Amino acid sequence: MSRPCPCTSKKTFDKCCEPYLSGKKQPETPEKLMRSRFSAYATRKVDYLIHTTAEEERGKIDREELESYCRTISCISLKVVKAEGGGPEDETGTVLFYASLQLNGKRMLHKELSRFKREEGRWVYVDGDTN
Ligand SMILES: [Zn+2]
Repeated sequence: MSRPCPCTSKKTFDKCCEPYLSGKKQPETPEKLMRSRFSAYATRKVDYLIHTTAEEERGKIDREELESYCRTISCISLKVVKAEGGGPEDETGTVLFYASLQLNGKRMLHKELSRFKREEGRWVYVDGDTN
């Protein structure tokens, strides 16, 4: 019944990112958080994007800007290239990913090395180096 997950994991949404987006589960690893954030962009869950950003970065987010960005892009597919750290004993982790996006009718490949850390036990997105 459930549709494919927007993060293109080939799993269904309810068995992949949906429990994170709805707050039923916490992503156990930075990679899962990264995937769920991609799905949040795809489904315009702006609150989730803000909520999963590190506290020191959260204040810099312009909610309206983020909302209009989510409306402008189509999230086509996601490929996680490499994930480092982020284990049960780790406080930080990085994820290298390629996201295929469509912006104003044009396909683009967004490459990013994202940094994640734990904040009171849960993983949050800090920032990333793009392309
Ligand atoms: Zn997913």
